[in-house]
Amino acid sequence: KAKSKGKAQYAMFDASLHQHVAEQLLLESELRRALGAGEIYLDYQPIYTLKDKRLNGFEALARWRHPERGIMEPATFIPLAEETGLIVPLGNWVLREACRQMREWSKGGDGLRMSVNVSSLQLNDHEFVGQVQRAIAEAGILPTQLTLEVTESILMNGAPETLAALTSLRDMGVTLSIDDFGTGYSSLSYLAKLPIDQLKVDRSFIEKMGEEGDNGEIVRAIFTLGQALSKQVFAEGIETAKQLSLLQELGCEFGQGFLLSHPVNAERAGGILAEHALVTA
Ligand code: C2E
Ligand code: MG
Ligand code: MG
Ligand code: MG
Repeated sequence: KAKSKGKAQYAMFDASLHQHVAEQLLLESELRRALGAGEIYLDYQPIYTLKDKRLNGFEALARWRHPERGIMEPATFIPLAEETGLIVPLGNWVLREACRQMREWSKGGDGLRMSVNVSSLQLNDHEFVGQVQRAIAEAGILPTQLTLEVTESILMNGAPETLAALTSLRDMGVTLSIDDFGTGYSSLSYLAKLPIDQLKVDRSFIEKMGEEGDNGEIVRAIFTLGQALSKQVFAEGIETAKQLSLLQELGCEFGQGFLLSHPVNAERAGGILAEHALVTA
């Protein structure tokens, strides 16, 4: 009896697995189409000074306006894009669009900054440095206005080509940031050697800060590390006033989070920009 039940469960699992695979295949072909169809667009989350909430810039975040499923978050399609290699054209589109938008917003000057997320496939693509160069040139922005966010795992893989690409980008004047910092078990001696300007403390650490029994020791340690290595430290995922005040006490200069602003569409971001005096990092 137990055996037949097990078999039935297995068959059910198999059917749902099959459905999952079919679903992923469908999504893949839709994603392939989506980019050309203009269904991918960017929202922008403001990054502020934490001391006095002046605007430093924006982080560009990809969205997919799916004709039937509605607006899809990156978690539903970025991993798929990475598995299928579609992240390379998609990431290149994000880069160009973010630079173009920055140019449109920079008419009054060149103080505005934009952060763009980059995945490992892009960074390991030998055309990537050239694509960044072209995106900057085509948009007519300064390289110093662009920040590229890469995750720790990309860096820790430590391929010589990856390091060479990062070095070229930094030599161009692009700012390099380690996103979700603290989740990837970076070797500290390796970190010291990387051509990186910023550490963006992962949201999970900010989240715990201000909870009972957590006074931000981990975040404090990351700040000490950042200072020792001459890296700027940014905070992401600031949701509460308590977290903000702890970060201010730590001397954290820049951050983003729902408390300050959710990611917003380009039109609203333009409005936020019009209301704020810019401050450069
Ligand atoms: P990320 O780069 O760490 O971006 C920050 C994420 O945290 C965003 O989620 C943002 O909406 C969310 N967030 C910001 N403030 C708060 C807060 O106070 N509380 C909470 N709970 N969340 C907050 P989103 O837009 O869903 O993006 C998720 C991830 O998808 C990004 O994490 C990034 O890794 C990836 N991603 C987004 N756009 C792109 C892209 O164009 N290219 C690549 N390669 N990855 C992207
Ligand atoms: Mg990011
Ligand atoms: Mg992040
Ligand atoms: Mg994150």
